[in-house]
Amino acid sequence: MNFPACPAFWKTSNEAIENLYQTAQKAEKTILTTTPGGRPVYCLSYGPSNAGTARMANWSSALGSQDPSCYADPKTKVPTLVLIGAEHGQETEGTAALYNLVTLLETGKDAAGNTNGPLLALCQNIRLVIVPIANPDGRARVLPEAIIGLKQYDLRYWGQGTWADGSLCGWPECKKIHPIKDAVDFLGGYYNDDGINLMHDDFFAPLACETKALLDLCECERADVVIHLHGGGDSKGNLMQTSYMSKPAQAIVEKLASACYEHGKAEGLEFVGPHACGLDDGPVPGAFNLASAAHHKCGAVSFVYESNECIIDEPGPKLTHEQVTRMHFIVFEETLKVLQNREYRYI
Ligand SMILES: [Zn+2]
Repeated sequence: MNFPACPAFWKTSNEAIENLYQTAQKAEKTILTTTPGGRPVYCLSYGPSNAGTARMANWSSALGSQDPSCYADPKTKVPTLVLIGAEHGQETEGTAALYNLVTLLETGKDAAGNTNGPLLALCQNIRLVIVPIANPDGRARVLPEAIIGLKQYDLRYWGQGTWADGSLCGWPECKKIHPIKDAVDFLGGYYNDDGINLMHDDFFAPLACETKALLDLCECERADVVIHLHGGGDSKGNLMQTSYMSKPAQAIVEKLASACYEHGKAEGLEFVGPHACGLDDGPVPGAFNLASAAHHKCGAVSFVYESNECIIDEPGPKLTHEQVTRMHFIVFEETLKVLQNREYRYI
């Protein structure tokens, strides 16, 4: 199969991330878990850590005591950002951005040779935890390095796969059966090898090992912000609000959405502006998903960033690989400013 060529800085395969992990010199390196398909989930971390810090109570109990510092003391903790790519295997935009962020942190330049001085400066004295591919099983099934430049059909085929009769599963119908494994012909990149969509795992039952590892990571690191990097077809850059998250945390997502909108505008890049809160009170309530679960695990501001994917036969902005990566860096910069200024009430 032939796919549009990607620039040399755009690396998103399991093999590229394994090589990045093996060759990283400055990172603290961890294999979070091994997937049902036998693949390692790699994590690279930078900066001082809260891991191992004694806590008096879990997050729920700390809130119950009306004293969040029983979970993590804002006076002493290191502000911590967790960045997670490819929870859905075909959404490679976040992985490309994280590949470039790790390269920047390791070498002082990203893989395209840019120094990104403001971003690098904002990473100082912050704990930065990077999972380039959370779902390597799903990523392994997806042959293109990017969805950019492909068509709607390709996005759905590689993303949600096909039912047993060969028809496209599509979105959101793909969520009507979970786990989906026994109902499909081609299992799309959304799922691990057991057919689990990590975003919609059964959070009150034994979890997929990838989901558990991500939540344990957020807890262990006492994350302040967790960004789940997804693709959104031809949407503008979209910082999505999270259902069932506390109002102070939702307010930070709104603030970040405004900041990214303004920052992007200054560079000619389009972000969606801030969203209203109240996702849980519509005729069909919002889903309690992995972003919600990460918030309830450790109190972090936890949200999905949906990137433009440049689908050529859908309406919407048609961005280049460079623009897509730059928009991720804007999201990282604006989030790091919030962390550096300790604006979130629990930091
Ligand atoms: Zn997704």
